[in-house]
Amino acid sequence: MKPATITFSKLVDKLQQHYGAPAPPPSTDPLELIIWENVGYLASDKRRAEAFATLKQEIGTRPEQILAAQHSALAAIGKAGILPDVSAEKLLSIAKIVFEEFDSDLRSVLKRPVPQAKKALKRFPSIGDPGAEKILLLTRSYPVMALDSNGLRVLCRVGFAEEQKNYSATYRLAQDAVHGQLPRDYDSLIRAHQLLRQHGQELCKRSEPRCAECPVRNGCNYGRKV
Ligand code: SF4
Repeated sequence: MKPATITFSKLVDKLQQHYGAPAPPPSTDPLELIIWENVGYLASDKRRAEAFATLKQEIGTRPEQILAAQHSALAAIGKAGILPDVSAEKLLSIAKIVFEEFDSDLRSVLKRPVPQAKKALKRFPSIGDPGAEKILLLTRSYPVMALDSNGLRVLCRVGFAEEQKNYSATYRLAQDAVHGQLPRDYDSLIRAHQLLRQHGQELCKRSEPRCAECPVRNGCNYGRKV
C-alpha cells in the first residue's frame, strides 16, 4: 500500500477549514455516552439527539430513574431507531449494570488503570474497544485517538492503513499509523475525532464517496484514483 502523502494534522486542519469547528460531543458523562449509543438502534444523529433529549426530560438518565420507567415509555423513545423494544431492553440493561456492579457511579471507573477501565466499560451493550476508547477520550480520562467507523474509513482511504478482514486489526493498524503524529491535548484529539467522523458521514461515505467535493482529495490515495 502506498503510504499517506498528507500528515495527520494537515488532514484535520483541512477538514476544519471545510466543515468549521466541530460540534461538541453529546455529553462528557460516561453513563450518558453509553446511553447515547443505545437510545435508538441505527438512528441518525438527529433522531438520536431528539430521543436522548426526550429521555433526559421525561425519564432522566440516572440508573434508578431508568429502572423505574415503564418498558413502554422507554420503547416509545427507542422509536428513534429501528428496534424500539431492543433499545428499551438495552437501556434497562445499562441501568441495571451501573446500579448493581458500579454502585451507580461510572465516573470512578474512569480513574482505574486504562485496561481495567476499558474492561468495565465493555460490560455495557454496544461498547467494544473503540466505544470504550471513545468514552475515555470524550470524558477526558485518557488521551487516545479513538475512531468511529466513519473516521477509520477516512484514514484508510487517505492511506494511513490498509483495510484488513478484521475490523479490530484495521482499527489498531490505523491507530498505530497516526500514533507518532498525534497531538497530546484533549481538545485537539476530540476535534480530530469529531471531524473525521463528520467527514465519513458527509463526504467520505461508505458507498459512493463524494471525492470531487472533498477538501483533502489531493492528499488522498483513494481520491486520486477516482
Ligand atoms: S478524496 Fe474521497 S476517499 Fe479521499 S477522503 Fe475525500 S471523500 Fe474520502
